[in-house]
Amino acid sequence: MTDCLFCKIVKKEIPSEIVFQDEVITVFKDINPSAPVHLLVIPNKHIPSVREMVDIDEIILGKLFSGAKAAAEEAGIAETGYRLIINNGPDAHQEIPHIHMHVLGGAKMKHPMG
Ligand code: 5GP
Ligand code: ZN
Repeated sequence: MTDCLFCKIVKKEIPSEIVFQDEVITVFKDINPSAPVHLLVIPNKHIPSVREMVDIDEIILGKLFSGAKAAAEEAGIAETGYRLIINNGPDAHQEIPHIHMHVLGGAKMKHPMG
Protein backbone atom coordinates (compact mmCIF):
# COMPACT_ATOMS: atom_id res chain seq x y z
CA MET A 1 0.00 0.00 0.00
CA THR A 2 1.67 3.19 -1.17
CA ASP A 3 -0.36 5.59 0.97
CA CYS A 4 -0.20 3.60 4.23
CA LEU A 5 1.75 5.32 7.01
CA PHE A 6 3.01 2.07 8.55
CA CYS A 7 4.01 0.64 5.14
CA LYS A 8 6.10 3.79 4.73
CA ILE A 9 7.71 3.19 8.13
CA VAL A 10 8.53 -0.39 7.08
CA LYS A 11 10.17 0.90 3.89
CA LYS A 12 11.89 3.71 5.84
CA GLU A 13 10.24 6.29 3.60
CA ILE A 14 9.32 8.23 6.73
CA PRO A 15 11.47 8.36 9.87
CA SER A 16 10.70 6.31 12.98
CA GLU A 17 12.66 4.78 15.83
CA ILE A 18 12.91 1.19 14.62
CA VAL A 19 14.25 -1.14 17.32
CA PHE A 20 14.03 -4.36 15.29
CA GLN A 21 13.31 -5.35 11.71
CA ASP A 22 13.54 -8.57 9.75
CA GLU A 23 11.88 -9.83 6.59
CA VAL A 24 8.51 -10.37 8.30
CA ILE A 25 8.03 -7.79 11.08
CA THR A 26 9.10 -4.30 12.16
CA VAL A 27 9.18 -3.06 15.76
CA PHE A 28 9.32 0.69 16.43
CA LYS A 29 8.60 3.22 19.16
CA ASP A 30 5.13 4.76 19.27
CA ILE A 31 5.35 8.48 18.46
CA ASN A 32 2.89 9.34 21.27
CA PRO A 33 3.65 6.87 24.07
CA SER A 34 0.90 5.83 26.50
CA ALA A 35 3.36 4.14 28.89
CA PRO A 36 7.08 4.41 29.74
CA VAL A 37 7.65 1.67 27.15
CA HIS A 38 5.32 1.80 24.15
CA LEU A 39 6.35 -0.14 21.07
CA LEU A 40 4.42 -1.13 17.98
CA VAL A 41 4.99 -4.52 16.33
CA ILE A 42 3.72 -4.70 12.78
CA PRO A 43 3.84 -7.15 9.88
CA ASN A 44 5.82 -5.81 6.93
CA LYS A 45 2.95 -7.05 4.78
CA HIS A 46 0.01 -4.67 4.57
CA ILE A 47 -2.86 -6.38 6.41
CA PRO A 48 -5.43 -3.71 7.37
CA SER A 49 -6.90 -5.48 10.43
CA VAL A 50 -7.73 -8.92 11.80
CA ARG A 51 -10.92 -8.75 9.76
CA GLU A 52 -8.96 -8.85 6.49
CA MET A 53 -6.46 -11.53 7.50
CA VAL A 54 -6.47 -14.80 5.54
CA ASP A 55 -5.46 -18.21 6.87
CA ILE A 56 -1.89 -18.00 5.60
CA ASP A 57 -1.41 -14.75 7.55
CA GLU A 58 -1.51 -16.80 10.77
CA ILE A 59 2.19 -17.47 10.31
CA ILE A 60 3.04 -13.80 9.83
CA LEU A 61 0.80 -12.64 12.68
CA GLY A 62 2.23 -15.29 15.01
CA LYS A 63 5.54 -13.50 14.59
CA LEU A 64 4.05 -10.38 16.16
CA PHE A 65 4.14 -12.34 19.44
CA SER A 66 7.77 -13.40 19.05
CA GLY A 67 8.65 -9.82 18.13
CA ALA A 68 6.82 -8.49 21.18
CA LYS A 69 8.52 -11.05 23.41
CA ALA A 70 12.01 -10.13 22.16
CA ALA A 71 11.28 -6.39 22.27
CA ALA A 72 9.97 -6.65 25.85
CA GLU A 73 13.14 -8.47 26.93
CA GLU A 74 15.27 -5.84 25.19
CA ALA A 75 13.30 -2.98 26.81
CA GLY A 76 13.68 -4.55 30.28
CA ILE A 77 9.96 -5.06 30.94
CA ALA A 78 9.73 -8.84 30.46
CA GLU A 79 9.81 -9.60 34.17
CA THR A 80 7.59 -6.76 35.40
CA GLY A 81 5.04 -7.45 32.68
CA TYR A 82 3.42 -5.71 29.79
CA ARG A 83 0.14 -5.44 27.95
CA LEU A 84 -0.27 -6.47 24.30
CA ILE A 85 -3.12 -4.72 22.51
CA ILE A 86 -4.42 -4.98 18.96
CA ASN A 87 -7.19 -2.46 18.29
CA ASN A 88 -9.54 -3.51 15.51
CA GLY A 89 -12.04 -1.18 13.87
CA PRO A 90 -13.84 1.98 14.97
CA ASP A 91 -15.18 0.91 18.40
CA ALA A 92 -11.66 -0.08 19.42
CA HIS A 93 -10.21 3.21 18.08
CA GLN A 94 -8.00 1.65 15.45
CA GLU A 95 -6.51 4.78 13.88
CA ILE A 96 -4.02 3.22 11.46
CA PRO A 97 -5.41 0.59 9.06
CA HIS A 98 -2.32 -1.65 9.12
CA ILE A 99 -2.41 -4.32 11.87
CA HIS A 100 -0.23 -3.37 14.81
CA MET A 101 0.36 -4.86 18.22
CA HIS A 102 0.96 -2.33 21.00
CA VAL A 103 3.52 -3.38 23.63
CA LEU A 104 2.89 -1.32 26.76
CA GLY A 105 4.90 -1.58 29.95
CA GLY A 106 7.20 0.01 32.47
CA ALA A 107 4.47 1.01 34.93
CA LYS A 108 1.55 -0.60 36.75
CA MET A 109 -1.51 -0.39 34.51
CA LYS A 110 -5.16 0.20 35.20
CA HIS A 111 -7.47 -2.78 35.49
CA PRO A 112 -9.97 -3.70 34.15
CA MET A 113 -9.58 -2.50 30.59
CA GLY A 114 -12.17 -1.03 28.25
P1 5GP B 1 -4.26 2.57 17.04
O1 5GP B 1 -5.15 3.58 17.70
O2 5GP B 1 -4.49 2.52 15.53
O3 5GP B 1 -4.35 1.22 17.68
O4 5GP B 1 -2.78 3.04 17.29
C1 5GP B 1 -2.04 3.80 16.38
C2 5GP B 1 -0.76 4.20 17.09
O5 5GP B 1 0.15 4.66 16.12
C3 5GP B 1 -0.96 5.33 18.11
O6 5GP B 1 -0.54 4.89 19.39
C4 5GP B 1 -0.11 6.46 17.56
O7 5GP B 1 0.55 7.20 18.56
C5 5GP B 1 0.88 5.73 16.65
N1 5GP B 1 1.35 6.52 15.53
C6 5GP B 1 0.56 7.26 14.69
N2 5GP B 1 1.32 7.84 13.75
C7 5GP B 1 2.61 7.47 14.00
C8 5GP B 1 3.85 7.77 13.36
O8 5GP B 1 3.94 8.50 12.36
N3 5GP B 1 4.96 7.22 13.90
C9 5GP B 1 4.92 6.40 15.00
N4 5GP B 1 6.09 5.92 15.45
N5 5GP B 1 3.77 6.10 15.63
C10 5GP B 1 2.62 6.64 15.13
ZN1 ZN C 1 0.30 -0.73 5.41
